[in-house]
Amino acid sequence: MISNLSFQGKYSINNYEGCLKGGAIGDALGWPVEFYSIEKIKSRFGQEGIKDLLINSKGKAEITDDTQMTMFTADGLIKSILKKLNLNEMPDMKEVFKSYRLWLNTQYDKFPQKASGWISEIKELYATRAPGNTCISAISGNIPGSIAKPINNSAGCGGVMRVAPAGLMYKDNPELAFKVGAECAALTHGHPRGYLPAGVLSEMIAYIINGKNVDEAVTETLKTLKKYKGHEPVTKLMEQAQKLAKSDIDSSIAIQQLGEGWVGDEAIAIAVYCALKEPDNFAKAVRMAVNHSGDSDSTGAILGNLLGAHLGIEQIPSKWLKQIELTDELGQLAKDLYAKPENIADAKTRYIEINCDITSL
Ligand SMILES: [Mg+2]
Repeated sequence: MISNLSFQGKYSINNYEGCLKGGAIGDALGWPVEFYSIEKIKSRFGQEGIKDLLINSKGKAEITDDTQMTMFTADGLIKSILKKLNLNEMPDMKEVFKSYRLWLNTQYDKFPQKASGWISEIKELYATRAPGNTCISAISGNIPGSIAKPINNSAGCGGVMRVAPAGLMYKDNPELAFKVGAECAALTHGHPRGYLPAGVLSEMIAYIINGKNVDEAVTETLKTLKKYKGHEPVTKLMEQAQKLAKSDIDSSIAIQQLGEGWVGDEAIAIAVYCALKEPDNFAKAVRMAVNHSGDSDSTGAILGNLLGAHLGIEQIPSKWLKQIELTDELGQLAKDLYAKPENIADAKTRYIEINCDITSL
């Protein structure tokens, strides 16, 4: 049974903004080196690796599928909550899948889709930045997966990298946040190593928003994780990340021991390790999270979600906040997730429900 916990901790809109924009910064910092080995990163950017955002011809640091899909997760969760106005039960996962269908359109259509809500009308989201094959094929297949009915056997990190909004929206009920995050991931990723890390990220964000530190959030979330079938490899890596963060092992070696981040549990473990190692320094932590031979933008995005939620927007370098694409839109989404569902401004005009034929869950 999922219990509703109450917290003494303080949270504010700054933590919500920090979570979403921090994720976008990690995504943008890691994107130029996503497919580079550490040797190639060092030969191009120097011994310390990539340290600053790369700016495109439009003067912006580009976000990728990680942030794009995070925005569409929020879109689907908000559309669902507007129907029920109840944060104590599971959202309608079909709404989230419909929003992922809208994301899929952004990968193929040149022009923003009208009348499906304000997120799908953001022109800059219509950009293809190395989206994951599992997400493309599962959403194209038009059959939403779930934990009970896995859609495939994918353990990729495309599930965990996009679910931060579940933790923000269900912050009052961390164990429910876990289930919501995991089910969002299970829409496209059918292996426990693909969807359980998404539950971990969501529940950790819920705890962090409520004032727990990163280490406490890991410890609490592990209790929920262990209740799920197939949790063992995820639990093992999470516990290893906690142990490594308390050791003197060089961070580059520690990250290597956790993997490369292409698989969901490796991605969350690398991000958690970096957040535990540098809990008070966003810039140091995010550089640590992207400078390795693996899936740098996803590990950067997840780290940015976690530490941005913990530190809040004031402790993220202001230069980076101005440079990332869609900073204002991410700020608006943070406000929408922070508000009580009945108080979301202009909800009826901004979150338009769409009719879309999908195979039932
Ligand atoms: Mg990406």
